[in-house]
Amino acid sequence: MSNEFVAALQNRSLDELILFHKSDLHSHAGRSGKVDYIAKWANVNIDKPPNKFDSISHMQTWYNENIKKHCSGFTGQLKRWEAGFVQASMDNITVLSMSFSNSEINFVGGMESFINILKSYNETFAPKTLFLPELTFDRACNVNNECGKLEEILSYNYFKSIDVCCDEFAQPIKNFIPLYKKAKEQSLRLKAHIGEFGTADDVMEAVEELELDEVHHGIAAAKSEFVMNWLSRHKIQLNICPTSNVMLGIVEDYKYHPIKTLYHAGIPVTVNTDDLLIMNQSISDEYLNLFISDVMTANELDDIRINGLGEKNHY
Ligand SMILES: [Zn+2]
Repeated sequence: MSNEFVAALQNRSLDELILFHKSDLHSHAGRSGKVDYIAKWANVNIDKPPNKFDSISHMQTWYNENIKKHCSGFTGQLKRWEAGFVQASMDNITVLSMSFSNSEINFVGGMESFINILKSYNETFAPKTLFLPELTFDRACNVNNECGKLEEILSYNYFKSIDVCCDEFAQPIKNFIPLYKKAKEQSLRLKAHIGEFGTADDVMEAVEELELDEVHHGIAAAKSEFVMNWLSRHKIQLNICPTSNVMLGIVEDYKYHPIKTLYHAGIPVTVNTDDLLIMNQSISDEYLNLFISDVMTANELDDIRINGLGEKNHY
């Protein structure tokens, strides 16, 4: 327990909150920095996002039209990754898992070039941060094709975890079993985006079928006592992204966020950013938002912070 972190929340002081070690275990690398950093680099003004997006595609369109157009191409992509490490350093994120797609690896010339860039960014911009690179697959991908490429990617021994993201309804989760089997053979941490838009049963099914260690989002589990008890018994960590859930309209407001229910059911939970470049809320902001909205006490939020920094999240 850190009485100082508790006090920083009670003082509602972002300046104090940023001084404490924190984790961010779910962040899409290309959208992991602060918008101000990109706006300054591109020398443009970027409007604030709307309070809510109607859908993921609305969010994507807004992002393309308001942010990505200022930081696209090779240089733009590198700048967005750089922004993620700079942000981690500024907010004292000492354990950082960022996800990358295969197309991002190809965009910078393949695995060797990709690894060199990321290692140098980690050392230059966030040397105190334990960086855990995650390989993510689009839920709509051709799994057979991706399986063929996975062996080569994993032969570099660089990625620490695997994920499936985007449209949860694109295809049955069990189609991904071959990918996850390969990843498990290489001792990668197994995760997936589940129960963001889907159901509590979807969360349990994915954990069982893919043998997941963690779930990104997973908040739908709060609708089922049975699934919550099962997740708690199996110690499946949910990496929760409160602002993302609110802005995508899955949760009406922070004050109704199910993180409280999930936490009190004994499920290990963490607080994460998802798409910081769009949502514009740092990890410190996320903790403060939950505290101010009276969702959780300062002591509970400190417990969540400590869980995120725990040994099992150093891999
Ligand atoms: Zn995500």
